[in-house]
Amino acid sequence: MVTTHNLGFPRIGANRELKFTLERYWKNESSRDELKAIGAQLRERHWKDQAGLDFAPVGDFAFYDHVLDMSFTLGNLPTRVRGFHGDVLDNYFRVARGRSAQGAEDHSGCCGGVAAGEMTKWFDTNYHYIVPEFDANTQFSLDPSRLLEQLNQARTLGVKAKPVIIGPLTYLWLGKAKDDADKLALLPRLLPVYAALLDYFTARGIEWIQIDEPVLATELDATWRQAFRTAYEALSERRVKLLLATYFGPLQHNLELACKLPVDGLHIDAINARDEIAKAVAQLPATSVVSVGAINGRNIWKTDLAAALEWLEPLHRTLGDRLWIAPSCSLLHTPVDLNSEQKLDAEIKSWFAFALQKLDELTVLASALNNGRASVADALAANAKAIESRRTSPRVHNPAVKAAIARIDASLGKRASAYPQRAEKQSAILDLPAFPTTTIGSFPQTSEIRHARSQFKAGELDQPGYKAAMEQEITRAVKEQEALGLDVLVHGEAERNDMVEYFGEQLDGYAFSEFGWVQSYGSRCVKPPILFGDISRPKAMTVDWISYAQSQTTKPIKGMLTGPVTMLNWSFVRDDQPRSVSCYQLALAIREEVLDLEKAGARVIQIDEAALREGLPLRRAQWNEYLQWAVASFRITANGVRDETQIHTHMCYSEFNDIIASIADMDADVITIETSRSDIELLDAFDNFKYPNGIGPGVYDIHSPNIPSPEQMVNLMKKAATRIPAERLWVNPDCGLKTRAWSEVIPALTNMVAAAKTLRQLEFGQL
Ligand code: GLN
Ligand code: ZN
Repeated sequence: MVTTHNLGFPRIGANRELKFTLERYWKNESSRDELKAIGAQLRERHWKDQAGLDFAPVGDFAFYDHVLDMSFTLGNLPTRVRGFHGDVLDNYFRVARGRSAQGAEDHSGCCGGVAAGEMTKWFDTNYHYIVPEFDANTQFSLDPSRLLEQLNQARTLGVKAKPVIIGPLTYLWLGKAKDDADKLALLPRLLPVYAALLDYFTARGIEWIQIDEPVLATELDATWRQAFRTAYEALSERRVKLLLATYFGPLQHNLELACKLPVDGLHIDAINARDEIAKAVAQLPATSVVSVGAINGRNIWKTDLAAALEWLEPLHRTLGDRLWIAPSCSLLHTPVDLNSEQKLDAEIKSWFAFALQKLDELTVLASALNNGRASVADALAANAKAIESRRTSPRVHNPAVKAAIARIDASLGKRASAYPQRAEKQSAILDLPAFPTTTIGSFPQTSEIRHARSQFKAGELDQPGYKAAMEQEITRAVKEQEALGLDVLVHGEAERNDMVEYFGEQLDGYAFSEFGWVQSYGSRCVKPPILFGDISRPKAMTVDWISYAQSQTTKPIKGMLTGPVTMLNWSFVRDDQPRSVSCYQLALAIREEVLDLEKAGARVIQIDEAALREGLPLRRAQWNEYLQWAVASFRITANGVRDETQIHTHMCYSEFNDIIASIADMDADVITIETSRSDIELLDAFDNFKYPNGIGPGVYDIHSPNIPSPEQMVNLMKKAATRIPAERLWVNPDCGLKTRAWSEVIPALTNMVAAAKTLRQLEFGQL
């Protein structure tokens, strides 16, 4: 008999119950007991949803983040919160977000406020975890209370529990050591705590533990590989069985290592590493469990069950009871329930599976393996019908788009002249001062804007009424920018609630869910649009708004678009063609918009690539391939314009060092980047690589309510000028201003314009 299990379930709730409860708790609108009760209810519901499986995960539920949970379990709290008394959960929120619930903060007499823990992306997903903090003296001590509480609850409910923990090597790998302390030197202190935790589970009659080591899907050097051997050797004495879970990619050179570790089973991501299963089976001990992640835990597509059975059946014949099946990774990265969707087109909806539907697929696969395909004939037939409909639907396949892709050649991505010639022509037209000032696109999304949008969506405001409301906002933004004395203006993006959704809604080949929320971090969720078909642009998407804005001023208005790579990286995308092909399709569609904007008179066009870096593969060996098509896509989008048209791009991060050559290769005339937080640190990248074009290092940290002074901004620019010739520098904020209030934006930009004026009075030589 094949065994079914799940690696983790989305914790936020089908209706984002956790999000709303957390936010009420933080505002002191509900009690800690209420919050804990909602947590317990969600866990109970999710276990019921998984009742058809042989094992359900326990410990995957987190109030904020499962990595932070692990830090608390291992007693690794940052020193700055150790002095706090009161409830552990409040301390946990202090690390997560710098503060707990209002009112839980009254520690001014003893310990003051704290800095929030650093947050970063969980492997190559859009989920962000709180980075564990280490230094050379870090000590660990077990706090099993969270896991035991969840385990007790599971036991009361009769759940077939398989506790889930992050393994010791992945835990260390995810963290940051102060003063470059050696993280692996902490392993001998960490292992006894893990051993003690495993003994707790043994004492509670647990048979299997899932121990997650996704770092095995990354490039590990000899020291880390040796540390794996040491660690699992040390844990092999424990009586509980370990299922070592890997996911997000193939193991490659770590495969042999993983197969030889003294554990009781290995989980392999069969979506990304199917060809490693046979190799693993050959190398694993004859008693080892082989868990295969046969259902994609990171997308929203139905699994082709017949195709899966083709390779699962022979594997089952070989392995018998040793075969386990599961989703490829935790379902944290998928929305909960497709059945909540009432507005999706029925045909398109029939192609999708959210978390609950993926678990149904798993049970169907198990029945087919255990009792023969005939036992689930109806389910298999329905699945085959949906798969066939998707494969052949004219809504997915557009011959004209495929033909356009086939016609792509290098000339599409090439400007007529090199940057220096273009820059000259552009400056003749734009007539900008030195240190030109601009913003990144959005202005505050006021309650009036949101109100107009929701009225429009609800049908309470008609199209002309909505248009008038947005035009009023655009006029306001333009007038404010003129009064501030900015040089290149923007329309302010009032009409956009989201920079990807806005374009997705207007492109053919995109669908939208109503409740397809996925946790991004803490209580924050995103609802990625679904790229299901060949992409085309039925009509211009932004030209009317930009032209309207331009009609309000003689200063140049910057056309504002989201780039193809960002559209791709922030959507659920097709699995029936390479990501590069979807990206090229987006590039061609957005290119048409760029050319239409140019035709309508736009002299400056910005194409945001906020998420370019996020798409980097886990292994460096694959970076080149990704960067090659990502950069090519951007170039196709941007570079069809005349020399006189100035192309800007924007990226909201500062880790540039390792990809700067590719960024230069995009050949945008101006790039604006996030730097003010890192004190222009990123500009180190510009020491070794001479970035050839214009650049605007952000001088106003828009994520903070603080208003930077003109002096602070002048100083940042002076630092930048030590690395980049002053003639090519722009002055701008870090990112869009939509989350700020006008009352913050006006003084900050006033100071920014003053800073630019000061800079202009200095000779370039004085900088
Ligand atoms: N143009 C967008 C804005 O200003 C860019 C947002 C982003 O980079 N995340 O809002
Ligand atoms: Zn940004």
